Amino acid sequence: MATDQNKFQAIISHCKEYGFVFQSSEIYDGLSAVYDYGQNGAQLKKNIRDYWWKSMTQMHENIVGIDAAIFMHPTTWKASGHVDNFSDPMIDNKDSKKRYRVDHLIEGHAENLSEEAGKALLEQMDNLLKENDFAGLKKLIEDNKIACSVSKTVNWTDVRQFNLMFSTQLGSVTDEASEIYLRPETAQGIFVNFLNVQKTGRMKIPFGIAQTGKAFRNEIVARQFIFRMREFEQMEMQFFIRPGTQKEWYAYWKEERLKWHLSLGVSPESYRYHDHVKLAHYADAAVDIEYEFPIGFKEVEGIHSRTDFDLKSHQEYSKKKIQYFDTEINQNYIPYVIETSIGLDRMFLLTICAAYEEQDLTKDGKEDSRVVLKFPAKLAPVQLAIFPLTKKDGLPEIAKELMDSCKSAFYCFYEEKDAIGRRYRRQDAIGTPFCVTIDHQTKEDGTVTIRYRDNMEQERIPMDKVKELVLNKINE
Ligand code: ATP
Repeated sequence: MATDQNKFQAIISHCKEYGFVFQSSEIYDGLSAVYDYGQNGAQLKKNIRDYWWKSMTQMHENIVGIDAAIFMHPTTWKASGHVDNFSDPMIDNKDSKKRYRVDHLIEGHAENLSEEAGKALLEQMDNLLKENDFAGLKKLIEDNKIACSVSKTVNWTDVRQFNLMFSTQLGSVTDEASEIYLRPETAQGIFVNFLNVQKTGRMKIPFGIAQTGKAFRNEIVARQFIFRMREFEQMEMQFFIRPGTQKEWYAYWKEERLKWHLSLGVSPESYRYHDHVKLAHYADAAVDIEYEFPIGFKEVEGIHSRTDFDLKSHQEYSKKKIQYFDTEINQNYIPYVIETSIGLDRMFLLTICAAYEEQDLTKDGKEDSRVVLKFPAKLAPVQLAIFPLTKKDGLPEIAKELMDSCKSAFYCFYEEKDAIGRRYRRQDAIGTPFCVTIDHQTKEDGTVTIRYRDNMEQERIPMDKVKELVLNKINE
C-alpha cells in the first residue's frame, strides 16, 4: 500500500504558495479541517463545478438542475435517517484523550502492514462493521496493538456511536423546537423537491435532478488537507426510475461516471471501483470510484442505488403523497433512485494531484527545474497568459488589444514584469496551458510566439489565430 507523503506535502505547500488553498482564518492559527480557496483555487473549483454541471444537465435532456437551501425543516433529517443513523463508531484513547473513527484508525494501521496482512485486517474490520459488533472492533484494535499516534498507548475506551451533524438555532428563541441542522448532504434538497420539479418541469421517468452546494459534517478525524473537511461541497444527481429497473440504471451510472472522470485525461490505472460491503441504511447497492492519491487509493465519488427509501420516508413523515403516475404502464408508484455523489473538493484535490509534476530540466551541466500543473485546458484557472516582451515600443498596447479580444471567451492574464523565462515558470506553476509573447516582429508581420506548457515548445503563429487555437483546446 504505497503512499507518497512527501509528494502530498509538496502539493499542499504548492497550493498555498500559488493561491489555490489557504487554511481558514489563518491569522488566528486556522480552524481545523476548514479551508479557503484563493484566487486560483476558486477559479479551478468553479471550472470543475461548471464542467460537471454541463455534463449532467446540458448534455442530458432528461436531467435538470436546482439550488436548494442549506437549512431545511428539521423533520427532513428524521425522515432521511440522519438523526438516528448518521454516526460513526468512535474510540477514545484514555491517555491522550484523542478521539478516532474506528475505521480510520484500523485503516491507518493497515497501511503500514504488508499488502497481504493489511488486506486481511481490513476484511476482518469490514465484517465486524457489517455486524455492528463494537466489542469485536475494540478487541481487533487491542489484539493488533494499534496505538494512539499521540500517547503511543493501547489504552482505549469502548467503541461508541457519534452523530456527525452540526446543529444551530433558527430565530432568537433557544428551545428544542428551533434546533435545525446544517445539511450533511445535498441529496435531501432534491428529494423534498421531487414533486415540484416533476410537475413544473413536466418530467417523465426516467429523469434526474442535479445540484451542487455546501454540506457540513463534524468529522472526527479531519486530516489529510481538503480530502476530509468539516465544510465541503458536493455535486449530486438523483436519477428517478421505475421500480425494478434499478440494476440496469445502477450499472449504467457506474460506467457513465467513470467515463466522465476519464474524459479529463487522467490515466485509467489511477482509478478503481470499490464495491461496498457494509451498505448505508438507504441503499441496496453501492460502489465508490476511487483515485490513487499520493496517500493511497481513496473515494472520490459514490454511486448508490437508494431504492425508494427517501421518497417513501418523506411521504410518511410529511403525510403528503409523493408518487408518480407512469402513463406508459398506467400505474402509480414511488420512484426508485440511483444517486451519483461526488465531492467537489476531492475532485479538486484529484485534479491537482494528477496535474502536479516536478521536472528536472538540467541541461549541459546547467541546473534547472520546474513545477508544472498539467491541467486540462478547460479546467485551468488561467487559460492564456499574454506578455509584451518589453514595456515600451508600443508592445503593451498590442498585448492589451489581444487581451481585449480574448477575455470575453476565456480567462486571460496579462504581465509585463520580469524576464520572459520567469514569467513562463510562474504560469507553469499555476497550470496555464498557453503563453503568448508579443515582440518587435509582431509589429512587422502580426505574428506572436505561442509557448506550450506541457512540452515547452514555442512557435510563431498569426496573432489573429490565437483565440481560435485556445478555444479549440478548451472545447476538446
Ligand atoms: P467517506 O467514507 O470518505 O467519509 P462518505 O462515503 O461518507 O465518504 P458520501 O456520503 O457518499 O461520502 O458523500 C459523497 C461524496 O462527498 C464523497 O465521495 C466525497 O467525495 C465527498 N465527501 C464526503 N465527506 C467529505 C468530507 N468530509 N470532506 C470532503 N469531501 C467529502
